[in-house]
Amino acid sequence: MEGFVETVEGKTRLLVPELSLTERVPPKVPAFFNPSAKQSRDLSILAYHAFAPRLKERTLADGFTGIGARALRVAVEVPEIEQVFANDANPIAIEAARRSAELNNVLKKCRFSINEVCKFLMNGNDVEERFGIVDLDPFGTPARHVDCVLRAVLDDGLISITATDTAVLCGVYPEVCLRRYYGRPLNNSYGNETALRLLTSLIALTASRLELAIKPVFSHATMHYLRVYARVSVSSSDANDVYSSIGYVMHCFNCGHRLATKEYDGKAKCQICQKKLRVGGQLWIDSLHEKEFIAKMKEYAEDDEKSNKILDAALEEINVPYYFKGDEISSRLKTSPYSISKIVEKLRAVGYKASKTPFNSGAFKTDAMLNQIVDALR
Ligand SMILES: [Zn+2]
Repeated sequence: MEGFVETVEGKTRLLVPELSLTERVPPKVPAFFNPSAKQSRDLSILAYHAFAPRLKERTLADGFTGIGARALRVAVEVPEIEQVFANDANPIAIEAARRSAELNNVLKKCRFSINEVCKFLMNGNDVEERFGIVDLDPFGTPARHVDCVLRAVLDDGLISITATDTAVLCGVYPEVCLRRYYGRPLNNSYGNETALRLLTSLIALTASRLELAIKPVFSHATMHYLRVYARVSVSSSDANDVYSSIGYVMHCFNCGHRLATKEYDGKAKCQICQKKLRVGGQLWIDSLHEKEFIAKMKEYAEDDEKSNKILDAALEEINVPYYFKGDEISSRLKTSPYSISKIVEKLRAVGYKASKTPFNSGAFKTDAMLNQIVDALR
């Protein structure tokens, strides 16, 4: 194909637009391929490996497949998945994906289509109306497609959803965030985790409206990529419980104090400095990780250092819906920065819970308040 070259990602040969390998921002024409999303695709291979044995129907649907990078990697690298359905509105991208499938000898496992994403998802496959795994990786927000994804996945199936409208979710456009995700963002040092929690609560609330329940099993924020993996089950009684996992994160923009709460209180004052707190949410305040699932992902990670680092942090993470950056603390202490491991160790030594977090390698989580952290480290 003219303008396309072959590259290898993971164990898969991919035909990609030549310019996508050389330009800083990969072009959308003739087709889109983002080489820097490799980490996100590496993690999805691990997640699908970990989930596949649980599936009744081993099928995967990729709604915005582009040149097929993720779908083809699944076809080649996750042998447990029997059929991959890859769809895109761009016929040139689908042609490249089809040729890449030939290159990898997985054409029989792959079905390609050119359709609007929700039409594709509602079509189902030959045997079933729904798919075992549904992936949605759009440009920008997934908000308008969340219903379709949930309606296209089988009971006890898996969904993986990406958001890249990080400016909206991290607080640059709060009104847009409120209408897309039904919650307010926090434009602060842990905004990416708040963003993931806003995305998760949108998925959970949409699911509950459809008599479904979700359970997040893994999520990560890698650069501008926010990604949530969740198990979906048909259960109106579990759907009734959705609000037990939804709450708010309050932040003091004067002193940096933060806390999570179940109830909305727009007048709440900071316990440390008495200034008014800013409210983030409604958002998901429950765990974003299922440890058993992440341990399974790790079994497949082998010597993949970057993925292992994220998974190790997710495994040890305590269930607190925000984090503290190491340099926030060292600037208060007016010392040279402690390593994150050292901070975690010191907090544990005086009886607080503390851990690393997969959402920021220079940060930690704890149940101690900001002033208590400073006292413990002084
Ligand atoms: Zn304060």
